[in-house]
Amino acid sequence: MSRKQEIINSAIRANIIDENLIAIGVMDLNGLEKTVNDAYAAFPQNFFHTFAVKANALVNVLKPLREYGMGAEVASPGELMIARAAGFSTKDIIFDSPAKTMVDLHTCIKHNISLNIDNLQELERIDHLIKEFPKTQSVIGFRVNPQIGSGQIASTSTATATSKFGFALTDGNNRQQLINIYKERPWLNSIHTHTGSQGCELELMAGGVKVITDLAEEINALVGHQQVVRLDIGGGLPVNFASDEVTPSFQEYADILKATVPLIFTDKYQVKTEFGRAIVAKNGVIITRVEYTKNSGDRHIAITHAGAQILTRTVFLPKSWPLRVTGYLPTGEERTANNTELVATDVAGPCCFAGDLICVNQALPKLVANDYVMVHDTGGYYFSNHFDYNSLPRIGVYSVYGKDDALQIECIRQADTIEDVLNKM
Ligand SMILES: *Cc1c(COP(=O)(O)O)cnc(C)c1O
Repeated sequence: MSRKQEIINSAIRANIIDENLIAIGVMDLNGLEKTVNDAYAAFPQNFFHTFAVKANALVNVLKPLREYGMGAEVASPGELMIARAAGFSTKDIIFDSPAKTMVDLHTCIKHNISLNIDNLQELERIDHLIKEFPKTQSVIGFRVNPQIGSGQIASTSTATATSKFGFALTDGNNRQQLINIYKERPWLNSIHTHTGSQGCELELMAGGVKVITDLAEEINALVGHQQVVRLDIGGGLPVNFASDEVTPSFQEYADILKATVPLIFTDKYQVKTEFGRAIVAKNGVIITRVEYTKNSGDRHIAITHAGAQILTRTVFLPKSWPLRVTGYLPTGEERTANNTELVATDVAGPCCFAGDLICVNQALPKLVANDYVMVHDTGGYYFSNHFDYNSLPRIGVYSVYGKDDALQIECIRQADTIEDVLNKM
């Protein structure tokens, strides 16, 4: 039996999606563990993998990720709180944000939380804080924009000439200025770049890593010892949303990195990664129920409870973030072309605007009311990030662990029923 079939069966057995609870997110912890193991297996000992908390900021997802050996990359006080609640020690947390306040910076340096400086104004603030906390254990680096170009999705391309992130390395004499900055500050021990994520070619990402590695080598040669000890190679790996296949794999990325920057595969530098989507996306699904169906203008329309409120990116930017769906009978049997007629279908969500569609005009086995719809690859940036939690709190989140009929399903975030909502008033 496929894993997805096991998951839907156990959700039905546990009676989780009923009249009140109409969409759930499910995280597969066995899958998550395997993915983290794959990441560690692809790279040598000098690599430390942190998880970009924004990709799935749920304590009960972060806890297992910590147990599987990851650190945490956070970008706000809220994410920091969640990472601490999940048990990450401050030394395994890095704070990256282009908008850190003075209070954020003070707290990080005081508590030995590592951080990357985004710009020259932030550097000035850190200069003051280092005088106040000269013994801080924070590993401090500069975020560099290698300005090497864009991937296919503008909003996830961080290394364009005009990106809002980091210090623009190729503008004017910025490179020399940055080298001088390091030379004057022996506490600058790391260099960070984040070269993109979804839609970016691996070669583009590896090119960004090469730029900062060369820079680190130049700085170290100039100061005469290894001042820069850590390379922070941010940027997530793209995820394949078109099928269950994991491509690119961590191994493919490692192979390209090794060919482009062999030095980081020696133990000269500590190398820190920041994967988000590639760790969680394929280990999570959303399951929702078909409430009604209708036919409009020759289109079969299935109205479900998963729309813009939990599939935000896909609904607003369907071309950049297409998702696959699979239908199941109320018994859990998968609808396929063998047991059900194919019809041109829109799968819609519950929100009150016409664009609230999970997929448009797809030839799908005909869905009927009370069927289940699984939305694949939604373990990152979807059910953990829905924008409307307060006004539509009926989405529960579960984790599964184990195998076959013994698959354990556990609630990791409770959902309120409409009755609960009224009773809270
Ligand atoms: C979002 C983010 C990541 C992770 O990106 P994914 O595409 O989810 O893998 C890594 N590093 C930083 C600094 C980020 O902001």
